[in-house]
This record gives sequence, structure tokens and C-alpha cells, in this order.
Amino acid sequence: MLKGLSAIVTGSTSGIGLGIAETLARAGVRVMLNGFGDARQIEQQRAALEAETSVRVAYSPADMTQPAQVRQMVIEAEEQFGAVDILVNNAGIQFIAPVDEFPDEKWSQILAVNLTSNFHTIKAALPGMKRRNHGRIVNITSAHGLVASPYKSAYVAAKHGALGLTKTVALEVAETGITCNAICPGYVRTPLVDGQIKEQARAHRLSEQQVVEDVILASQPNKRFVGQQELADLVLFLCSDSAASITGAALTMDGGWTAR
Ligand code: NAD
Repeated sequence: MLKGLSAIVTGSTSGIGLGIAETLARAGVRVMLNGFGDARQIEQQRAALEAETSVRVAYSPADMTQPAQVRQMVIEAEEQFGAVDILVNNAGIQFIAPVDEFPDEKWSQILAVNLTSNFHTIKAALPGMKRRNHGRIVNITSAHGLVASPYKSAYVAAKHGALGLTKTVALEVAETGITCNAICPGYVRTPLVDGQIKEQARAHRLSEQQVVEDVILASQPNKRFVGQQELADLVLFLCSDSAASITGAALTMDGGWTAR
């Protein structure tokens, strides 16, 4: 169905992004991985996925806080694959502090990675998509794109902003074969959430299990983490022809969190 297409997944050396990249590659999509980490481990991941799927898997070390590097990543993908048909904006970071104590540099960094990088990837990839009259843009936002939690001012602001960007792009390209959507997950057990569990356990003097049950999953009515594969499968569906009429949507996958 998607065989022969090409994708960039930002922040795909770990967690949700890696799961999306693996799922796209298994569907026959050439994938450019991106993100930070140990160079040898990333190369092992890249080569293993390429060997398993027999599709081309590339890697860009572009830092999503640097617009010139973001543009270069899109140019490299277009040169290596011939096109960027699918763009998944997934790279994201978190920092937790009361707003009046929130470090200025953390605010700027979170806005740069979680919001502004989406603008730069979309701006760079859209001309090629328009020429081919086909494209799929999926922005991984969050339940925090729809509702807030205390101490996450930069993250919540960036994710709300990413939803605004999603809707605007969708309207601008509505008469083309390009769609732009956001997925708003609840909690997914990844290194990003593991870090929060450890921090909260220290801060509240609770066991990690208590933090999972009483703090993290307190907002998620179904009381379980969203599965990484569930998320990747939704991305796959949004990239398919069957999803051609879904655009400008904020699709929740949060166990009922935002239904309250
Ligand atoms: P993660 O920490 O496991 O992965 C984040 C990825 O982003 C890594 O590959 C990292 O190297 C990359 N990254 C970070 N800064 C970067 C930069 N400056 N340039 C390039 N890459 C960079 O996190 P995750 O939980 O998989 O989160 C992925 C996305 O899903 C994020 O946007 C996050 O906000 C969102 N999300 C996560 C959850 C959750 O519960 N895990 C819930 C809702 C939304």
C-alpha cells in the first residue's frame, strides 16, 4: 500500500519515533531516521532495520533546534530517496517546573524542538509534495496539545501551538493530495516518561510503581499506557489512501484522558 514511498521521522532514535520508523520501513517505506544518541548504536539500529526490511534506511543527525540543519536533512532525504512523501514530526523534549521558576533557556529549547522545528520541516518538505500532488504530514503532539497540566508550561504551549500549525497547513493544502494531521497521545512508556517517573518518585518520595498508578496514569481513565505499536499503526493508517479525507484533525489516543 505504501511500498516505494519515502519518509522522514524526526526524533526516531528512541521511543515513539523509532516505533513509527520501524513500522513504516516494515510497510516498504524508505525512512530517514533522525535524533541524538550513541553513534555506534544508531548505526546498528539503522543497519538492522535496513537488513530486516530490505528498504533503504538513512540517518540524519540534524539538531531540530537548528533551522539550517533541519533544511539540510530534508534536502538530503530528497537527494537520497528522490522524494519526501511522508513527514512525521515527532522529536520532542520535556522539562517540568513552576512557570515563575521555569528557566528561560529550557522554554526556548522546548519551543524550538516541539514547535518551531515542525514549521521548518514542513516549509522545506512542502514544495516537493506540492509538485507531486501527494504528501502526508503527521505531527505527534500530545493530550497536552488539548489540555494543560501544572508545571509543564513550555511543553503545553508548544503542543497547543503545534495543533494550530497542523490546522493551518491542512487548510493551505486542502485542495491538493496532501494531508496534515496531529496525533495527541496520552502517556506512552518511553525513555521520556521513564525520566518523569524517576523525577516524580524523588520529588514526592513515592515508589516508581506508586508514581505510575497514582500520578502518571491518574489522568488516563483506562489506566494503562498507550502502546507504541498502536500509535505507529495510526500513523500508518493516516499515510494510506483510505485517510485521504482526514486532514486538519487532532486525533486523540489517550485512553479517555481528554474526554473528561
Ligand atoms: P523519547 O525521549 O524517547 O524520544 C525523543 C526523540 O527526540 C529521541 O530520538 C531524541 O534523540 C530526539 N530529540 C530530542 N531533541 C532533539 C533535537 N534537538 N533534534 C533532533 N532530535 C531530538 O520521547 P518519546 O516519548 O518517544 O516522545 C516522542 C514524541 O511524542 C515527543 O514529541 C513527545 O512530546 C510526544 N509524546 C510522548 C508521550 C509519552 O508519553 N511518551 C505522550 C504524548 C506525546
